[in-house]
Amino acid sequence: MVTTHSLGFPRIGLKRELKFALEAYWKGQLSQSALEEMGILLRQSNWSLQNGMAYIPCGDFSYYDHVLDMSLLLGNIPQRIVQKGGSDLDKYFLLARGKTAEKNGQTQESIAGEMTKWFDTNYHYIVPEFTKDSSFHLNPSRLLDQIEEAKVRGISAKPVIIGPVTYLWLGKSWDHSDKLIHLESLLKVYEELFALLAEKGLEWVQVDEPALVTQLSSEWQEAYERAYQFLQNSPLKIMITTYFGALRDNLTLACRLPVQGLHVDALNARHEIDSLIQNLSEEKVLSLGVVNGRNIWKDNLTETLEWLEPIYAKLQKRLWIAPSCSLLHVPLDIAFETAMDPEIVTWLAFAVQKIEEVAILAQALKKGRKAVYAQLEDNKKAMNSRKTSQRVYNAAIREEMASVTPEWGKRLSHYKQRAALQNTVLHLPLFPTTTIGSFPQTSEIRQVRMRYRKGEIQKEAYDRRIRQEIATCITQQESLGLDVLVHGEAERNDMVEYFGEHLQGYALSRNGWVQSYGSRCVKPPILYGDVERLAPITLEWAIYAQSLTDRPVKGMLTGPVTMLNWSFVRDDQPRSQTCLNLAMAIRKEVCDLETSGITIIQIDEPALREGLPLHQSEWDTYLSWAVNAFRIAANGVKDTTQIHTHMCYSEFNDILEAIAGMDADVITIETSRSNMELLRAFERFKYPNAIGPGVYDIHSPAIPSQAQMVRLMEKAMETLPIDRLWVNPDCGLKTRRWEEVIPSLHHMVQAAIQLREKV
Ligand code: GLN
Ligand code: ZN
Repeated sequence: MVTTHSLGFPRIGLKRELKFALEAYWKGQLSQSALEEMGILLRQSNWSLQNGMAYIPCGDFSYYDHVLDMSLLLGNIPQRIVQKGGSDLDKYFLLARGKTAEKNGQTQESIAGEMTKWFDTNYHYIVPEFTKDSSFHLNPSRLLDQIEEAKVRGISAKPVIIGPVTYLWLGKSWDHSDKLIHLESLLKVYEELFALLAEKGLEWVQVDEPALVTQLSSEWQEAYERAYQFLQNSPLKIMITTYFGALRDNLTLACRLPVQGLHVDALNARHEIDSLIQNLSEEKVLSLGVVNGRNIWKDNLTETLEWLEPIYAKLQKRLWIAPSCSLLHVPLDIAFETAMDPEIVTWLAFAVQKIEEVAILAQALKKGRKAVYAQLEDNKKAMNSRKTSQRVYNAAIREEMASVTPEWGKRLSHYKQRAALQNTVLHLPLFPTTTIGSFPQTSEIRQVRMRYRKGEIQKEAYDRRIRQEIATCITQQESLGLDVLVHGEAERNDMVEYFGEHLQGYALSRNGWVQSYGSRCVKPPILYGDVERLAPITLEWAIYAQSLTDRPVKGMLTGPVTMLNWSFVRDDQPRSQTCLNLAMAIRKEVCDLETSGITIIQIDEPALREGLPLHQSEWDTYLSWAVNAFRIAANGVKDTTQIHTHMCYSEFNDILEAIAGMDADVITIETSRSNMELLRAFERFKYPNAIGPGVYDIHSPAIPSQAQMVRLMEKAMETLPIDRLWVNPDCGLKTRRWEEVIPSLHHMVQAAIQLREKV
């Protein structure tokens, strides 16, 4: 017998039902009971979709974030939130979203918890907070309610929680005290919880410990030993789950922990499975995550079986199989993608299909491949179709990729020479002012895009409307007095999806939503084959925008690394290769923009940092091909063409060398919230090119004053020479309203003028 299970499931709903319910609830348009009703519906539907599994996750459903749920379960709510009073749900959303009180136009500190990325995924969690005085208590009602709900429905539930060590590892110590001092008190809460769960008649609990795939110091490794020794008399069986990577130095540690089962990601840790089998004692269950929970490709079931059958022969009932990780990171169901190319659809598996794949594999192991003959044949056909499809392979592009030489990635001259030449063309003042690209997207303009996509408006009418929007945007920027203008990005729904839509080799889904954080979802485009730019993408809009003004208009593109990291990409070649392929497509757009008279081109790379591998030992390799791809995209231009890039996060220290290696003439970054502190790192590193440190936080509706921005720039001037400084906001303005943008940019331009007068 082989046991099947699932580690977690998407919770947002096929049509993002949870998103809309949440947003209505936050606006006061939906009652708490109606929101809870929605939660029940989604859980019920999720459980029935996973019905083929022997154990079904319970407690993985969340209104906002499962790490935040864990903080609530452990009674770890910061004092500033507790003080506000209110129900558990109020506190929950307050910690998730905060409230930015405004006083005299100045934003007061938000009380929301910090948000950060969940390992190497695009999912963001609310960071648990600790101080040396943190205390914990069990607050199990949410989890118990869901377990009760599952019981009533006859579900064989397996509660899912985050393990004590990973929970601490994910958190932040506000007073820099050692987080591990809390381990013992946390363990008592876990012990209490396990006793309660056992009382409910549950057999297994899934304890997520993905920190085991990271590089751990000996203190953290010891914490693992201590934690699970403490919990070893637990009345229910513990399945420790790891995912996203291999165990490496933690392999023997993971095997040694006194628990009943261990789950590993059999895709990322395939090479470790033999040694795991040898190291794991006879009475323990080994759960193999055999179906990739991070991509949208069908698994090659026959190949997986070839590999799995001998393991099953050895382990028999000690073997469990599952998706590699929670399916939170993939869309729900491919069955609803009726508008997608039907050939491509046959290659894809979303969450529902991945569960089916696990079930088929289990059947084949139990009863022999004959028992699932038809399914395996279908799967073979799909594999074959994908391997041989004309849609995947493009001979001309392959040839071009083989012809790339290192010269492609090099500018003709060094930055200093280029800067001098660019000055003679651009005639920009000191402290040139610019924006990051997007201007407010009104609901009207979103409507226009949607109606055009649905075929409700014709191309001419659509073009006219976008041109009108561009013209308004240019007029506004001219009257504000900005130096380098942008067209405003009104035609773009999303910076990655837009380019995906226009490149051959990409497919777009209708309902392929993946939760990014809270109610925010993204719909990553699917890169399935060799990418080709069949025609210019942004050229027409850029030329039109430039025709309206004498000031330079920046061409605006998404960079290859960001395209890669924010798409679902093919798994039949290394990511580095796909990134290079994207770079070449973007390079063509860059060169066309230049030929058409665009003198400044911005290539956004906000996702460069996100792509960093989990293991630091692999960073250099990644950064080297990622930076190379950016350079290939950017550097086909003359010295007089100015290349900008933009990144919006506040951790650069450890990747500055790579950033300098990108050699963009100007980089605009997010700095306002860190009070320009970030620039010190650039100074220490002797960053050689120009920088536009963001002078105001676009996430806040508050209107920054001129004085405030002058002050920030003066701080910037302490660290960087004035002839290499630009003045711009932190990021794009698309989520703001014109009423906020106009006065803010007015103050910003005035600040630059004031600075010029001072020097
Ligand atoms: N050019 C994009 C914009 O302004 C950049 C977005 C981003 O940094 N994420 O919207
Ligand atoms: Zn940004």
